[in-house]
Amino acid sequence: MGGHNLDERARAADRRTRAGIMRTGSNLPAVGEYNQTLVLDHIRRSPEGLSRVELSARTGLSAQTLSNVTRRLADEGLIVEAGKVISGPGKPRTLLKLAPRSRFAVGVHLDPVVDTIVVVDMAGEVIAHDEIGRPALSTPAGLVDAVGAAVDAIVERAGIPRELVLGVGVAAPGPFDARGGRLLDPPLLPEWHNVNVREDLGAVTGLPVIVEKDVTAAMVGEMWFDRSDALGDAMFLYYGAGVGVGLAIAGAPVRGRTGNAGGIAHVIVDPDGPPCACGARGCLGVSIEPRVLLAEAGYAPAAAGDTRPDLDRLVRDAREGEEGPAAVLRRAGERIARALVVTNNLIDVDEVVLGGPVWERLAEVLGDVVAERVAVDAASTATREIVVRRSRVGADVAAVGAACLMLDGAFAARPARMMIAL
Ligand SMILES: [Zn+2]
Repeated sequence: MGGHNLDERARAADRRTRAGIMRTGSNLPAVGEYNQTLVLDHIRRSPEGLSRVELSARTGLSAQTLSNVTRRLADEGLIVEAGKVISGPGKPRTLLKLAPRSRFAVGVHLDPVVDTIVVVDMAGEVIAHDEIGRPALSTPAGLVDAVGAAVDAIVERAGIPRELVLGVGVAAPGPFDARGGRLLDPPLLPEWHNVNVREDLGAVTGLPVIVEKDVTAAMVGEMWFDRSDALGDAMFLYYGAGVGVGLAIAGAPVRGRTGNAGGIAHVIVDPDGPPCACGARGCLGVSIEPRVLLAEAGYAPAAAGDTRPDLDRLVRDAREGEEGPAAVLRRAGERIARALVVTNNLIDVDEVVLGGPVWERLAEVLGDVVAERVAVDAASTATREIVVRRSRVGADVAAVGAACLMLDGAFAARPARMMIAL
């Protein structure tokens, strides 16, 4: 049997995983690496620990193969033995747990309002968080240097050995050339025009760099924390300076051929809505843009272009019963719900997750409106209730997701790991 067949076997296992059928391994030596990531993934998802017997049952790996795999993982410091448990007759079983501080990843979110940077451990827990200062003179080299300096600073502040940092995941609004890691001409980040983030940031930091669209990174981040695997078919509505959806189908994030999937900004959600640059009226993007909502509420435009304080005021006013702000937010919720329903009609998901920095500010009021409207929207073709919930990761989900992508690429036995092989 040649290598090709073994590859085929690993791919078939991935397909089964994607289909949610089973997550099992192969006892053949040539797929050792796959087995290693698979076992690690099972251990990661069981914080209470797993015995080798349980691992064998879950992965289908033989006792001998498992023994080899777990020894290798322990040698690399990725797992530890954590006590024994007695269950039934026979000798007590040794529990294996993830060693969360064995490796780390940095996540960066390039955003029009504020760039954020995080360090996560192997469990995906954020151990350091910061905002990245923009250089006064925003040349591409200056921007890349600023991000590189922020990576150095946060790794140092987190007090972790640099050699344990797997790399830097970068989330950015599209469009970009995923294969080359180059931001093309993101309208929301004009100063990043044509910058090859993967190469340039890699050269500055000396670390591997992955670049991913922010909405997809957010979906990956949410999936990383989903121990139940409920996010097999799901979408993540990312509401920041722009809006888009991250998609997962059959357990795998959907990136599209060029990594730019998930653009729903021009889905028309309100034929009487504000005019859009595309020539239509009431496209989702322009209809829920923070500055548009604030104008609809009759607020004066923010002087510095930072809409955050005014968005907080909008929520406050709405909660205090002011009709104008309440109506603006209700309508925004209805617009978002319509876009979700139309998208769901297309791909048919189980779960809708809502998040992103603007969403987090407005969620208190918008959350209920969106959930209610999705359930009753006359355009919906869903045959069962769609679960609508808030992100478990929070406002930093794109940065955290980008970091998780790096963890994913290195260790997780999920199709998402394919992303590292761009
Ligand atoms: Zn439009």
